[in-house]
Amino acid sequence: MASTGMTQSRENFIHSLISVSIDSIPADDSKCSICHEEWSTDDSPVRIPTCRHVFGRDCLLKWIGSTSSLQSNTCPLDRSILFTVTSNRSSLIVIRGGEVIVANNRITREGIRLYVQDLSSNIRRLRQQELNEMLQNDQSIKEEARRPLLPIVRVSRVGWERIEGVVRRMVSDHRERVEKMKCQQSQEILGESDLVVYVECLLDVFRDDLALEGLDV
Ligand SMILES: [Zn+2]
Ligand SMILES: [Zn+2]
Repeated sequence: MASTGMTQSRENFIHSLISVSIDSIPADDSKCSICHEEWSTDDSPVRIPTCRHVFGRDCLLKWIGSTSSLQSNTCPLDRSILFTVTSNRSSLIVIRGGEVIVANNRITREGIRLYVQDLSSNIRRLRQQELNEMLQNDQSIKEEARRPLLPIVRVSRVGWERIEGVVRRMVSDHRERVEKMKCQQSQEILGESDLVVYVECLLDVFRDDLALEGLDV
């Protein structure tokens, strides 16, 4: 994951964007993945130098927000950190959709909620066979657990073991659902009430290591 964005300002990040000519973009990449519209001069494509992803300039500027109302400082696709944001309490905060998700290497309550959503949407894409295989392979559960969490989040060894337990449970719950529906794959979202349960489990894992930033307590 690109990490060079972690040392620059929002302003420098905007200056670093590389204009891309529409003709040079491969045909299977013909849309901006923020607005899903074809490239046009209204939303001219720019490349993020660190992770190389291309978005419409206007969409990307809206995505990061203004200095007074920052929306996100991570790439919409790979979530690498694009520029540094600090607050009076934290040396580095990660914002997504206007919410602080990580502060000082600690995840926030909102960050956990987003992490559970990402885990569940990744698991939802798996076929029954893949779900079976995953449940028999500790290494793939490990990878599944780590994939959506920003590497800067500090997690203890015991913390990881507990998180992997939650992920295993999510995979197993989802397999049960797929089996019940007698189909190979289910795009059916894990119910909102299931997600709340997983969020509660993870809040418990991070209880002693939760960032206070963004917490409404
Ligand atoms: Zn766009
Ligand atoms: Zn990217």
